[in-house]
Amino acid sequence: MQVDQVVLGRGVIAAVVVRSNVVHELVHFHERGYGPRFVELMDHYLPDWRSRRDELNDAPRAAEEWSD
Ligand SMILES: [Zn+2]
Repeated sequence: MQVDQVVLGRGVIAAVVVRSNVVHELVHFHERGYGPRFVELMDHYLPDWRSRRDELNDAPRAAEEWSD
């Protein structure tokens, strides 16, 4: 997957993360839970949300150590 990146401070946040999270939270304005309506809205606004979710779930949880 090609990933655009946004540099914030010392870290790098992949745009795929930001976009997925923004869409997820905006969908909650219309559907509070995670039922069929939530899935329907996610499919509409971010059709590849499942692969993005899986990529995030497979990502390492710990931050890298940076030396100064
Ligand atoms: Zn949520």
